Amino acid sequence: MRIRHLIRITGIVQGVGFRPFVYRLALEHGLDGFVLNDGEGVFLEAEGDGRSLRSFGRALEEQAPKAARIDSVRITPAPPVGYSGFEIRASRESGEKTARVSPDLAACPECLREVRDARDRRYRYPFTNCTLCGPRFTIIRDVPYDRAQTTMAGFTMCRLCLEEYEDPGDRRFHAQPNACPECGPHLALLTAQGTLLPARDPVQEVRRLLRLGSIVAVKGLGGYHLACDAANELAVRTLRNRKVREEKPFALMAAGIATIRREARVSRKEAEILGGPEAPIVLLRRRRECRLPESIAPGQAHLGFFLPYTPLHHLLFQEAPQAESPNGPEPGAPPPAPLDVLVMTSGNRSDEPIAYRDEDAAERLAEIADYFLVHNRPIHLRVDDSVVRVAHGRVQVLRRSRGYAPRVSRLPWPVPAHVLATGPLLKNTYALAKGFDCYVGPHVGDLENLETFRAFEEGIRHLGRLFDVRPTVVAYDLHPDYLSTRYALSLEAEEFVPCQHHEAHIASVIGENAVEDPVVGVAFDGTGYGHDGTVWGGEFFVVRDGAFTRAAHLRAVPLPGGDQAAREPWRSALSYLRQSQGEEEAPIRARLLSGVPRENLALVERMLTRRLNSPLSSGAGRAFDAAASLILGKHRVAYEGQGPMELEQTALAGGRAHSDPLPYSVERGSGAWICDLGPTFAELARLLVVGRSSKGDLAWRFHRSISGLVVEVASGLASREGIQDVCLSGGVFQNQILLGQCEEGLRALGLRVHRNRDLPPNDAGISFGQVVLASWRAFQGDSGDGVSSGREARGLGRARKVARAVQRRG
Ligand code: ZN
Ligand code: ZN
Ligand code: FE
Repeated sequence: MRIRHLIRITGIVQGVGFRPFVYRLALEHGLDGFVLNDGEGVFLEAEGDGRSLRSFGRALEEQAPKAARIDSVRITPAPPVGYSGFEIRASRESGEKTARVSPDLAACPECLREVRDARDRRYRYPFTNCTLCGPRFTIIRDVPYDRAQTTMAGFTMCRLCLEEYEDPGDRRFHAQPNACPECGPHLALLTAQGTLLPARDPVQEVRRLLRLGSIVAVKGLGGYHLACDAANELAVRTLRNRKVREEKPFALMAAGIATIRREARVSRKEAEILGGPEAPIVLLRRRRECRLPESIAPGQAHLGFFLPYTPLHHLLFQEAPQAESPNGPEPGAPPPAPLDVLVMTSGNRSDEPIAYRDEDAAERLAEIADYFLVHNRPIHLRVDDSVVRVAHGRVQVLRRSRGYAPRVSRLPWPVPAHVLATGPLLKNTYALAKGFDCYVGPHVGDLENLETFRAFEEGIRHLGRLFDVRPTVVAYDLHPDYLSTRYALSLEAEEFVPCQHHEAHIASVIGENAVEDPVVGVAFDGTGYGHDGTVWGGEFFVVRDGAFTRAAHLRAVPLPGGDQAAREPWRSALSYLRQSQGEEEAPIRARLLSGVPRENLALVERMLTRRLNSPLSSGAGRAFDAAASLILGKHRVAYEGQGPMELEQTALAGGRAHSDPLPYSVERGSGAWICDLGPTFAELARLLVVGRSSKGDLAWRFHRSISGLVVEVASGLASREGIQDVCLSGGVFQNQILLGQCEEGLRALGLRVHRNRDLPPNDAGISFGQVVLASWRAFQGDSGDGVSSGREARGLGRARKVARAVQRRG
């Protein structure tokens, strides 16, 4: 008997070859009907006998294209209507827009084979793509994902491309950015002044220029890169000077995985990530025999490597056969350097966002790049490269952008209204949410200049349009002066939800892992605005029924100069020393901080005595700064977190794994427990004066003290409160030693330890945490009575009830 199935599929199912897959599958199973894309995802009707329909339904999920991510398949049986044949119908714009937009995908092996095949019509064509690979998020202007809604709209397909596009059996069937040398985008090579350089093969010419030590701005997928030969020390230094980027590491793109292995250690898991469709930058341990200049990542034991992810990148590493040697190698001429590792750093001046519009790039990068390799496919949204590392067997995302955004992060319970979370100040991301879905935008950066703020604003508007999120609830950071806070408060909304920074860090872990509270949350972090107006950042929370109690924290120390202390860690060091030694021991401090100009020391001692411009901070990041300053003599840093990173590497390189922690103390009073690092710094000072311990040893022991403290306090609170789950988050947990020791120590005590999964533990995860907090609090609004205590509890209880009800319905 013939029956009909109406099938609704949601998830990342557009722009990944899903409809041709359905088409082929339907033909294989002898089914009639149609398939189309719409605002919610893919919809299809299939008619045939029950057995074929069942096996078709199974195959839909089991054999789906690699890049697809299915969230749900809903099947509704219906009486047959007598379809004959199966067809792919035009997209329709109906229903609520909830379709997922695919992230950009690295070039696939099939496309690369064509690009390398001299007989193929796409030989050496840099914009080759198919339904399995190519640009997506960076070219989409609106959904549904159709060519007319992308930045490819201006290119009319030639006959051959159109045939592929229309042939359901072809790999390029409905590949929206489909193109070839006849009809698609093209490269051009320009001087820094914008003069066109005629070149038969611009990529080959760029290789020649890179060999000569030039710096070339290369327009890529989500923005411009600045490229130079990574083996050329002078070129690397020149790039540093021109970019005004003194020490921050540069990312490296290598020709292949074998090249990377020559310079760094690569585990199986790391190799898998490097070669995956997201193609992020992966932080890898530098080999001792690494031949790349130190100036690529000064003081770093890790190098950030990634593989080519567009055909253009692949071509940049390929020698055109004719260019190699028209008449064979010249006798006696040295073979050209391999040029198989390039510095590929974001195309921007130090703190600005990456350039992606051509005129803007031409202007902003003119003083950095010698040449521009550009093309005429517009980039609609700027998307930076993502950065990940493998931390104790699991991927830790440090910057979530290309390849990951705008993948949905599922919420464990639905938000009751459309929510916008505007995120923090540094490493900003924003997030939009409706139902169970949270869309965290791509990396924005530090919201400290107009350019970045514009990127932030444009991104919010664009994502809101793509996913049809019209926020009525706006979540924002407690800090009154953040640009993200001011922006939030300038919006028209029904409800505003202020979020404490470190509570948001912990909420991000609870949300990502769907942890049932009560939990102990440990937020070890840089800084964030606390409920009491002081700067927080070394926090232990007890979270019960959705309400946060600050159950313990690091003892606050004054931060002389406020934000200046992050750039000049000696200020934190001085403050910690004073706290542990008392005022009169200034001469010892001067000796320990002998690298700091005397007059500066004296000035800051006076500031501390009079408590001038010295806000109190319990930030764990500042404690690490202080230790790095004392142990390494690192008194000034070029970027946030540099001192702690180098301290970690010193510990790894030279520490004895079993040396004892330095002392610390915990005051367990009736209120919040106070964790005191005074004794830690007093002992550190003593050891430094004695001068018999190595830097590696001291660095290791300092890490052991902090992890010992975290384990002791978190487990102490857990047992007092009868809690089994501990959530760790905050930028300090990017530290591998600390993370590993805390996880191990807490697990050994029988506790379950949770950390961030797909989102970064640093401030880039804050916006998601704000959405989670907003979802708890929004439920309180309709609780009726105005009693404030227990409001959050009821909010969470109600959120759970709604979540269960929705899950039952779905
Ligand atoms: Zn492909
Ligand atoms: Zn064509
Ligand atoms: Fe933070």
